[in-house]
Amino acid sequence: MENAILIHGGAGSPYSMNSVLEDILKNIKFENNPLNMVINPVISMEDNLLFNAGTGSVPRIDGSIQMDAAVMSGREFGSVICIENVKNPVLVARDVMTKSPHIMLSGDGATEFARMMGHEYYNPQTERSMERLRKFMEETGKTGMPDKFKFLEKKTGDTVGAVVRINGKFAAAVSTGGAFPMLRGRVGDSPIIGAGIYAGDKGAVVATGIGEEIARNLLSYSIYSQIGQQSLETIVKREVDSFAVSCGIIAITGDEYISYSNTTMAYAYREF
Ligand code: ASP
Repeated sequence: MENAILIHGGAGSPYSMNSVLEDILKNIKFENNPLNMVINPVISMEDNLLFNAGTGSVPRIDGSIQMDAAVMSGREFGSVICIENVKNPVLVARDVMTKSPHIMLSGDGATEFARMMGHEYYNPQTERSMERLRKFMEETGKTGMPDKFKFLEKKTGDTVGAVVRINGKFAAAVSTGGAFPMLRGRVGDSPIIGAGIYAGDKGAVVATGIGEEIARNLLSYSIYSQIGQQSLETIVKREVDSFAVSCGIIAITGDEYISYSNTTMAYAYREF
């Protein structure tokens, strides 16, 4: 099978953004290493302030920006949870996987680890993301915890993710500012192995959407574990269609790939 890469711009991102993603795939450096290859487009998306990842990440309701990112390749995994003031969380997640004895680091510990690994202070805040918080505060008159109904009703996406197949090997990466609105310290599906991301010998899967519901269903591993039993399309559609809240998946196997969502979700695919 051809080597291939598939990326998404988050559940809720408009299809008009497909061209932005296609440009990213046109311009990234192509390499033979699945881990590097899956990280390259995620770095570009983190650096693009249109996406809710890295620069442009949505703030927490206290105004702080905490980001989650994860990588998985073969059976190796690394993630950072609620990391602050770094430019590319996905690169710190890679360092967790390749340079630490751990698989997940969170909060201040993740940020301290990033500094130890040479990731300099960087403020990912943008005017657009702070405007979103200001509007939400105005609309709801809230300054504290939103009630649960509003919490689910108002969440949108723009998280980014990528899956890759190179010479029969697979890798996955994901990066997000989280699902707005959310409390400081909130953790979604993205940095949790098996929830927002999974990769192994049979393929790679990345999820986007309402992280709480995705994690409750251990969605990425659930899809991964069914690979080979039915077509990838049948498996992914059945899983995603069972969600009452926004949910999207990109997945790749030895001979199939799919981008599918119960809402709009920009994506791009390329063989190389
Ligand atoms: N799944 C992400 C989260 O809940 C958000 C998203 O994909 O839009 O943090």
